[in-house]
Amino acid sequence: MIRSMIETSLVDWDGKLTTVLFFDKCNFMCPFCQNWELLLHPERFPPIDWSQIKKTLLPKKSWIDGVVLTGGEPLVYETEIFDICRKITNLEFLVKIDTNGAYPGTLQELIGKDLVDYVAMDIKAPLDDRYDQAAGTKVDLQAIKRSVQILKDAKIDYEFRTTCVPGIINEQTIAEIGEQIKEAKRWFLQQYVPVNAYKKEYRDLHAIPSPITNKLLRIAEKFAAEVKWRGKEI
Ligand code: SF4
Repeated sequence: MIRSMIETSLVDWDGKLTTVLFFDKCNFMCPFCQNWELLLHPERFPPIDWSQIKKTLLPKKSWIDGVVLTGGEPLVYETEIFDICRKITNLEFLVKIDTNGAYPGTLQELIGKDLVDYVAMDIKAPLDDRYDQAAGTKVDLQAIKRSVQILKDAKIDYEFRTTCVPGIINEQTIAEIGEQIKEAKRWFLQQYVPVNAYKKEYRDLHAIPSPITNKLLRIAEKFAAEVKWRGKEI
């Protein structure tokens, strides 16, 4: 269910003006999640139905490029996601999906049916036992690996993105992740934002300073054609 909306955003799809829709469920519970309140207390956010979304989108048709589906994890809604993507594309808006990569079958089908134009997939940690710590739950790593491959083979545009969480991301782990996604088209490293992190101990962490994040970028550049920093430099 969609329970939150940003009518106009310049920061959720590089180079595009978008409307952002937030789904209220996720199969992960990352300790640094910024949207935990929506996941744990969805009743605090009234549902937003398609008629409201359409009413918001239509007057913006000449200047909004697309709609970003985020959350939560939009692909948790394995049936409804097709319906909403179809409705949005029928209005001739582009569709971007933010995903944690846990639903490769749904991802593949959405791409195959031309219902998504751009995918941003999180890579939270090296693809081994450490992923569970980053995701706050036991993760099916094979599913994540399949999603990585689907995007690398896809005809649509995509990015992998890694939030530089202190204690999880460092020079060693960036190199390990790089090996696991190597020859990716695009890999964005993102600044960690401690404010409002789900777990208190993660609110107390300090974002990684730029002399170190610059080193992380240099390492990441070995594994992807385009590498960029996203967020504040400190
Ligand atoms: S995958 Fe994203 S939405 Fe889900 S818990 Fe993690 S950070 Fe939050």
